[in-house]
Amino acid sequence: MISPLMPTYARIPVAFERGEGMYLYDTDGKKYLDFYSGIGVMCLGHSHPTLVKAIQDQAAKLWHTANTYEIPLGTKLAERLCDASFADTMFFTNSGAEAIECAIKMVRKYHYDKGNAGKYRLVTMSNAFHGRTLAGIAAAGQEKLTKGFEPLPDGFDVVPFGDIEAVKAAIGPETGGIMVEPVQGEGGIRPLSKDQMQALRDLCDENGLLLVLDEIQCGMGRTGKLFAHEWSDVKPDIVTAAKGIGGGFPLGACLATEEAASGMTVGTHGSTYGGNPLAMAVGNAVLDEMLAPGFLERVRDMGDKLQARLGALQQRHGDFISEVRGMGLMAGIRLPEVPTRGAVVDMIGRGMLPAVAGDMVMRMLPPLIIEDEHLDEAMDNLDAAMNDWRKNGIPGK
Ligand SMILES: *Cc1c(COP(=O)(O)O)cnc(C)c1O
Repeated sequence: MISPLMPTYARIPVAFERGEGMYLYDTDGKKYLDFYSGIGVMCLGHSHPTLVKAIQDQAAKLWHTANTYEIPLGTKLAERLCDASFADTMFFTNSGAEAIECAIKMVRKYHYDKGNAGKYRLVTMSNAFHGRTLAGIAAAGQEKLTKGFEPLPDGFDVVPFGDIEAVKAAIGPETGGIMVEPVQGEGGIRPLSKDQMQALRDLCDENGLLLVLDEIQCGMGRTGKLFAHEWSDVKPDIVTAAKGIGGGFPLGACLATEEAASGMTVGTHGSTYGGNPLAMAVGNAVLDEMLAPGFLERVRDMGDKLQARLGALQQRHGDFISEVRGMGLMAGIRLPEVPTRGAVVDMIGRGMLPAVAGDMVMRMLPPLIIEDEHLDEAMDNLDAAMNDWRKNGIPGK
């Protein structure tokens, strides 16, 4: 018999009751070091006092009004994010997938308004993840996402990850843009290099295309810059954000330059909930912390330490760890000899929460408020686990 909750997830049998900072507590009171942040969402950790206060105060005042009216907190959040980024304008959504949908529509409308209605296609990269809408799965083009859901919306040309020559070859008269994650998340924590990012920008400039960067996982401070593309010299046309932007409240955004958004006029797009007062109050509170002096520098510092510590772990456990990947506090270790889910479940048993990513990678997205003591705890845990695996057998095998 089907479960009342539609069984689309292979859930790990642990349930959490409360969270505080870097830690979660399960229904039996057991404590876990959170190295996943609910897929990189809880960027300020759990029960952060600034966020708790913001949502409590706003909840007592006003939750929702509709985009029929002015929403001053939304205007303020958009202004602050524009000031802090490449963007001139943005549209607020409730999720990453909706931000992607807005980005795809924006590219099409841009070219349509320029008299190039035929330029509707996007070149995307393999092993990408752009959300679970029909357009999102078509853009990612992975069979595990699309199988059984055809026919898919037309308009996506998927090339091998990072293959600039293949991108070049895929660009045709119907191409309107390129859409990539600067650091692939679900696909296995794989960054594009500075040179690859620049090559994509150059191809866009040469061919009159819009560059869309999906920063839903790698943005909002995760790599130590507000957006990951800021590590390169590339200025994007459109960026999608979500996950960390709401610190746990469902919130996304599609950011753009004035030029890229020139087609998004009255009536072209909308959302009932998107950018409502409750969401905007939390979004502003997240920025209060993230844009405070020293916050992102501290993320960079802790990110460097995490990558270095994982490198040292690889030195000791080269038989398990074939590669350390990532940028800042977005990290992965590739474990070709260990079933990733088995490894993750084993770590959870040891009181630490990493997660699975593609390409045999164990993924780590700790809250950005992580401190040295948490790094020590995580590395001790991983070190002990790998010693055990060597002695007592590989979990899940
Ligand atoms: C999570 C994610 C999405 C989808 O976001 P949802 O909020 O789940 O719709 C899209 N792109 C990337 C890179 C993501 O990590």
